[in-house]
Amino acid sequence: MDKEYAQYLETLCKENDIMLIVDEVQTGIGRTGTFLCCEQYHILPNIITLAKGLGAGLPIGAILMDETAGEIFQPGQHGSTFGGNPVVCAGGIEVLKQVCNEAFLSSVSTKAVYLKEQLLALPGVADVSGLGLMIGVTVVEGLAARQIASRCAESGLLILTAKSKLRIMPPLNITMEEIDRGIDVLRKCLSEQAHL
Ligand SMILES: *Cc1c(COP(=O)(O)O)cnc(C)c1O
Repeated sequence: MDKEYAQYLETLCKENDIMLIVDEVQTGIGRTGTFLCCEQYHILPNIITLAKGLGAGLPIGAILMDETAGEIFQPGQHGSTFGGNPVVCAGGIEVLKQVCNEAFLSSVSTKAVYLKEQLLALPGVADVSGLGLMIGVTVVEGLAARQIASRCAESGLLILTAKSKLRIMPPLNITMEEIDRGIDVLRKCLSEQAHL
């Protein structure tokens, strides 16, 4: 989503007394190089949702609310059998300890810049989009993202697709060496496809 559009939505909500909810389940917890992605859009939502990355594999979800939203949503109004259980909360706290620091977040951005450069230099890649380590790769016409992704999986590189794009979301603690290994696999699979 482009920044102007997100800011326009924020203005529209404020003017019409509508709550703004930002779903950061995928984009939050450092994925885009800042703790929350909405920081980069300079918008201030009333409610933010978090999950996936917060648990780093453990099943957890969380809702952040400002005072306006918090006054409406009272304790006891939302329940879940295993919600707030101590094991996953301990995991979530540890994730926050690791992720909520400048050095870690800037390492995500540094790796993202490097990975995007490497991707753009691959034969068969037309464009690279996304923020931080949430990356979309447009392949040139004639290449099929789905086939490339399944060939990559056979060679040990797990990537997803998003419509006609490749969707790359590596772990935030990926190393530069691992990025290079992934790029090598992708290069091989792209050139195989191009020769078909
Ligand atoms: C996975 C996902 C959800 C759902 O999260 P749950 O914790 O399963 O409720 C919501 N929004 C986005 C963007 C997601 O990727």
